[in-house]
Amino acid sequence: MKLFRCTVCGYVYEGETAPEVCPKCKVGAEKFEELSEEDAEKIYRSDRTNAIHMEIITLAEKMIALCKEGIEDNLDPKCVSAFTQAKDEAWTIKQRSKTELAGHMKLGKY
Ligand SMILES: [Zn+2]
Repeated sequence: MKLFRCTVCGYVYEGETAPEVCPKCKVGAEKFEELSEEDAEKIYRSDRTNAIHMEIITLAEKMIALCKEGIEDNLDPKCVSAFTQAKDEAWTIKQRSKTELAGHMKLGKY
């Protein structure tokens, strides 16, 4: 299998030849270029890492939602403080993984 990238929208297609129509932006096969082995390797190698980052982002969002619930519950100031701190830490974790993903996109690792 080879990989072809749409030069208009960036969609990456897997197949023996470029698709007749881009599944995302609908341009024709002539707008696709075949990726080098090195660029294809980046895409395959980054699949699992990107999935891990996405799962971390989802977990951090769940933590943020739980912390908000705890803050609203407002049992006592120490709990509110712990939830507020955890919410900020979860935000940092989420944004760090999003930043990594954004870097991967720029480097063609998707
Ligand atoms: Zn396209």
